[in-house]
Amino acid sequence: MANPDPIEKLILELGRLPGIGERTAARLAFFVLKQARDSARFDLPPLAQDLAGALVEVVEQVRLCEDCQNLCTGPKCSICTDARRDTRALCVVEGVADLRAIESCGVFRGHYHVLHGSLAPLDGVGPEELKLSDILERVRSQHYEEVILATNATVEGDATALYIGRLLRGTSVRITRLASGVPLGGELEYLDHATLGRALSARQSF
Ligand code: ZN
Repeated sequence: MANPDPIEKLILELGRLPGIGERTAARLAFFVLKQARDSARFDLPPLAQDLAGALVEVVEQVRLCEDCQNLCTGPKCSICTDARRDTRALCVVEGVADLRAIESCGVFRGHYHVLHGSLAPLDGVGPEELKLSDILERVRSQHYEEVILATNATVEGDATALYIGRLLRGTSVRITRLASGVPLGGELEYLDHATLGRALSARQSF
C-alpha cells in the first residue's frame, strides 16, 4: 500500500497505544478531525498540531536521569537535584508510573531508582538489561541507610526484589519491602487467598 488513506493510517497509529482498541482509535481520529474543522471556524488552538508537536518534543527532549533513571529533560531529574530530599533512603520501583504513584502519597521523601521493567528471563530481561548492579554502586557510593524494594507484588516483581535483596546482602544497608495485604476499606471475605495469606504472614504487632 503505497499511499494509505490518512484516516486509516491515523486509526492504525492510535491503535498502537496501550489500552486503545480499534473502536476507540477511530473515535479519537474522528474527534481530531472534527476539532480541526471547529478550530478553524472558531479560532481555537488546533489540537492536531499541538498534539503532534508535544509528541515530537517529548521524545526529542526527555531522557533518563543519570542517577536514578527517572524521566527528565536535563542530566539529572528534579528529585535527585532537590536538596531537601532525604538522602538516606532509596526506593526501587519498576516504572516511572510507580514513582509518580508513591510521590503522590507524600509519605516518602527519599531518592528513587527506576528499573524500567522487572526480571523476566523468558522475555530476555535479565539483571544486565535492568542494570541492577547500578543499585549496588549507588548504595556503596551514596551511603544509603535503607533500600525500599517497591517492585510490584507479582511473580516478576517478587523475583526482582529477591535478586536485588541478594545483591545488597554484603552491604550494611537495611533492606525493606513494601507491605502487602488487606486494602483500606477491604472486607476479608472478598479478598483473594494469596492476598489474605500474605497479610497473615506479614502481620504486625498491634
Ligand atoms: Zn534522578
